[in-house]
Amino acid sequence: MKKRTVQRLCSMLLAAAITLSLAACGSSTASSDPAASNPSNPVVTATGSAKGMEGNVTVEVTADRSTLYSITVIEQNETVGIGTVACEQLPEAMLAAQSYNVDSISGATVTSNALKSAVQSALEAAGLDVSAFAQAKTATDTAEKSTETLTCDVVIVGAGGAGLTAAAQAAENGSSVIIVEKMPIVGGNSLKATGGMNAADTQYQAALGITDSGVAEFIDDTMNGGHQINDLSLVTVMAEGSSDAIDWLTSIGAPLPKVAATGGTSHKYLHEPEDGSAVGSYLVEKLRAQTEALGVQIILNTTATEILTENGAAAGIKAESNAHDYTIHAKSVILATGGFGANFDLMSSLNPSLANAVTTNHAGATGDGILMAESIGAGTVDMEQIQLHPTVYQETGMLVSESLRSMGAILVNAEGRRFCNDLSTRDAVSAAELEQTGSYAYIIFDQRIVDDLKSCQKYIKNGLTVQSDSYEGLAAEMGLTGEAAKNFVQTMDRWNNAVASGVDDEFGRSNGMDDDLSTAPYYAIKIAPGIHHTMGGLKINTEAEVLDTAGTVIPGLYAAGETTGGVHGGNRIGGNAVCDFVVFGRIAGSNASAYAAS
Ligand code: ADP
Repeated sequence: MKKRTVQRLCSMLLAAAITLSLAACGSSTASSDPAASNPSNPVVTATGSAKGMEGNVTVEVTADRSTLYSITVIEQNETVGIGTVACEQLPEAMLAAQSYNVDSISGATVTSNALKSAVQSALEAAGLDVSAFAQAKTATDTAEKSTETLTCDVVIVGAGGAGLTAAAQAAENGSSVIIVEKMPIVGGNSLKATGGMNAADTQYQAALGITDSGVAEFIDDTMNGGHQINDLSLVTVMAEGSSDAIDWLTSIGAPLPKVAATGGTSHKYLHEPEDGSAVGSYLVEKLRAQTEALGVQIILNTTATEILTENGAAAGIKAESNAHDYTIHAKSVILATGGFGANFDLMSSLNPSLANAVTTNHAGATGDGILMAESIGAGTVDMEQIQLHPTVYQETGMLVSESLRSMGAILVNAEGRRFCNDLSTRDAVSAAELEQTGSYAYIIFDQRIVDDLKSCQKYIKNGLTVQSDSYEGLAAEMGLTGEAAKNFVQTMDRWNNAVASGVDDEFGRSNGMDDDLSTAPYYAIKIAPGIHHTMGGLKINTEAEVLDTAGTVIPGLYAAGETTGGVHGGNRIGGNAVCDFVVFGRIAGSNASAYAAS
């Protein structure tokens, strides 16, 4: 449990403060000492709790009828680097605004909402009129903006996986590096990646005796998964650079020594953290620490708006925050702004059927890098290729990791039956799901998987699951009755037999079948497809240089990660987003650094 205090205190008033109560989780209480307070407007302290991402968030609030004096987060277990950022920043913002009604921290909406509810709950418990704090009383955005001019060798737009990797590599190669990141936290969509990183011919495969999952298989699977419209030269560079990328990650303290099969293939090249951590938050933290150690400057809450050019070459960016307008002069520019899976206008202009779909993407995935680069002549590729992920919890857009199926989970429909090879490619499974009754399915897993995979424990904690000690009981919890409930029990028995024999005679699944689903309790999550990855983006060459619409290099401009197109073709296979951002992030960082030095 962490404790953090933000105080805007008038010590005299606080001396008169009436105290104190500690709320039990989920409720709030207050007590006051009338003798010690101004009877006409007493200062009171009370606590309030609300459910956050990882359990209760509890705050202690000191206020009187018109003024918020302090907000202290006294209990939280939120995700480090996401929820914890909201716990640090929101109380300060609420005090500045004298209101609980402030903008959420993007990317940490659940924690932000919990903090706001907890403050309201504390105010109520203190016997104060909550509505007095519903409107911001102080304008925080009217201050004059200052103009800042900065200079560096390499400026990078976006501090997700690609941006942090590129920054670490460019700094390692001796460049001065600035990253601008429009969100209050680093990590972007990469922070949400739960699977692993595909890589072939690695030291970890060798240590495990895996000899049938090399570069050739990796290229074939990526091309097949992408329906052969991928850029083979980019895929080849990614696959050939993947082992070296794994070694580089190991050298910066981010080893990925566990190896499993990914969706759409029986080959084992999905590399994961040793302790079952989600790969995204694990790598983002290690990469951030590496950039910090190498002196990279990261400017948060700052949006790049324009690429500066000199004689046709990229020469820096313009960016803005609430407080500053920046001009950043740089010898080279790397765009690492991620995809556009949260830009519904752009997506529905490309594919109108996506207008009302759920997205797994963070709010910053709006395609800014693509739009900025297009405005200086950059070309794009495969923009209409937008991936639906088959296992998305629709209420919150939370992705249920493909790793569950890699570890043996199956999908069943409303009739209690399997309906496809559960570990086929994401587009194939999503399409099959949309054909089922109600266009949804359940993902079924057991305690063995929960014990081995940290993200499962999060799904349970966040209330996504139903569970039971028997298959009959689980059917009832899922709302299956009559024939559907009977089918479900038969489905589970049939699946366990298929695992025992190693043959899935129903759908021909051949991977994620090392263990059956017989370790009670059993779990189900209701899921359906959601927007996940935008395969298209800026056209780059194998040196991560951005090409213009005629296919000519735009000097000084590099791009890596989801903002680029061509690597994944018509469908990305699980584990390739991380490989893409590490391999091409390093290439972009290295080449931008060399260009800056030339
Ligand atoms: P990738 O996997 O390619 O690194 P991510 O989604 O992980 O993609 O990271 C992209 C990052 O770029 C996100 O943190 C996002 O907020 C940031 N970003 C997007 N547009 C801008 C912009 N205009 N200015 C600054 N940062 C941006």
